[in-house]
Amino acid sequence: KGSDGNYTVTLIPGDGIGPEIAQSVKEIFAAAKAPIKWEEVDVTPILKDGKTVIPDDAITSIKKNTVALKGPLATPIGKGHVSLNLTLRRTFSLFANVRPCVSIQGYKTAYDNVNTVLIRENTEGEYSGIEHELVDGVVQSIKLITREASERVARYAFHYASENGRNKVTAVHKANIMRMSDGMFLSACRDVAKEYPNIAYDEDLLDRVCLRIASDPAPFADRVMVMPNLYGDILSDLSAGLIGGLGLTPSGNIGRDASIFEAVHGSAPDIEGKGLANPTALLLSSLMMLRHMGLFELADKIEKAALSTIAEGKHITRDLGGKAGTREYTDAILNRLK
Ligand code: NAD
Repeated sequence: KGSDGNYTVTLIPGDGIGPEIAQSVKEIFAAAKAPIKWEEVDVTPILKDGKTVIPDDAITSIKKNTVALKGPLATPIGKGHVSLNLTLRRTFSLFANVRPCVSIQGYKTAYDNVNTVLIRENTEGEYSGIEHELVDGVVQSIKLITREASERVARYAFHYASENGRNKVTAVHKANIMRMSDGMFLSACRDVAKEYPNIAYDEDLLDRVCLRIASDPAPFADRVMVMPNLYGDILSDLSAGLIGGLGLTPSGNIGRDASIFEAVHGSAPDIEGKGLANPTALLLSSLMMLRHMGLFELADKIEKAALSTIAEGKHITRDLGGKAGTREYTDAILNRLK
């Protein structure tokens, strides 16, 4: 927080529809009188010593501010490029991926009462990238679980639960089969649970949770689910499918050195520059960011303006079945904030 009372936050508008939806978020924050000063940076990769890297300015800005809002980045096609998203994840040790999925009134899906929060370990597990061919026709892939990373993500899950009024943490696992690796993940969760006597703790098998959430998501509204990398990847998409629409799903990457909030969707090149993009997912990501910063009332105020605009249904974007463009939808939210 600066001497003027504003928090400086890094903004990466990103590629494709990124700048269009980032513009909506900036206007909405201004109308809500949010004490946020955006520091806009470009992460278009540059060539440095023959390698493509993120410009130093972007890294410096995120390091300094420790909080960033990020638009989608198009993954360049061709060799020699490291995914920018992966570079950011590694640079800032973004160890936990938080994905809430909440039903949005006015956008009809199979269930009206989805309210799940899933926290995925983001650095190891099945996605350690350690694979090799033992002999011709036999490949081994290593699932790496460390006590340190398990504890770190478990601690964040309990912290998130206590900060966000959820009274239970459920560790999702397959320790019945992966006895040692998932077994250690669970043992780390149990240890952390002892530090949070006011938050209940239990464990459930991944396959059972999939069946239960798809059959009736309501009982999951009271808790935070925490799990190893691959399980989180799959279960979070299952949950996102329950609320429907890529235009609606936010996420947060929580790290040791910084936290970066972003929509789940990509740069949508098919509608780029047409003024049709739905900014809701990036807006909801920015609200996760505000809550991460402790600005709960402000987040609630903006959320109410956006969700009531969607519920009213008059000015919603095409992906939600409406006729509005980004401008008309944004204006409807701005009017509610005035
Ligand atoms: P996408 O999410 O960009 O688009 C999929 C479909 O959903 C498209 O039809 C698109 O028009 C629609 N859509 C997505 N967001 C929307 C929004 N806000 N409003 C209205 N419609 C929306 O997925 P893709 O086409 O597979 O990927 C495009 C590019 O984005 C690729 O280069 C990919 O690598 C990148 N990508 C980046 C991220 C990220 O930065 N986190 C995530 C996913 C994909």
